[in-house]
Amino acid sequence: MSNSAESSIRGLHEKILTCTLCPLSKIRQKAVPGEGPANAKIIFIGEGPGRQEDLEGRPFVGRAGKFLDECLQSIGLQREQVFITNIVKCRPTEKAGNWVKDRKPTTEEIAACNPYLDRQIELLKPEAICTLGDTARFQVFKRFGLEEDTIGHVHGRLFLAGSVRVVPLYHPAAALYDNSLRQIIMIDFQSLRRVLSQRQLTNL
Ligand code: URA
Repeated sequence: MSNSAESSIRGLHEKILTCTLCPLSKIRQKAVPGEGPANAKIIFIGEGPGRQEDLEGRPFVGRAGKFLDECLQSIGLQREQVFITNIVKCRPTEKAGNWVKDRKPTTEEIAACNPYLDRQIELLKPEAICTLGDTARFQVFKRFGLEEDTIGHVHGRLFLAGSVRVVPLYHPAAALYDNSLRQIIMIDFQSLRRVLSQRQLTNL
């Protein structure tokens, strides 16, 4: 990756940090552009930042992130080797009594944020994209013109979008509430390992 692409990513992320394109900007602590090396060949895309991510400005640093790290390690990858981002870059929340809880991003919020993800993909030119959860799967399938299907059918499978390998995975947070999904996610990561080694994206 050229220095200019690297500085383009940095410039893009600076723009995201001060973005006011949707109302989530008014309630965020920090925007979460994403992180990883500018020459990463693999992108992981989640739904949107949660509480811990909003506080730290970094993706997947809460409980789901710990499990994601574990999954990556199970196939010999460190998070520093891949690029990790989200469909929306600011935390979507709603009030529940006296509490604030996470919610799915709205269609409008996704549409406002979408150009940032598009540009990240354009600049990084990944060879593989792994979606985490159905929100990310839906958006990435739409972007690449892949046929719509449920996450239950497509998880862990390989889809070709031109030269880009797309592998939809369950969201790691789902494993925190459902232990059987934990096993399925670990198995899907083994499928991912095979896809990556075929493409020699890693030497696993
Ligand atoms: N869940 C997500 O989808 N993204 C994060 O960054 C953290 C939790």
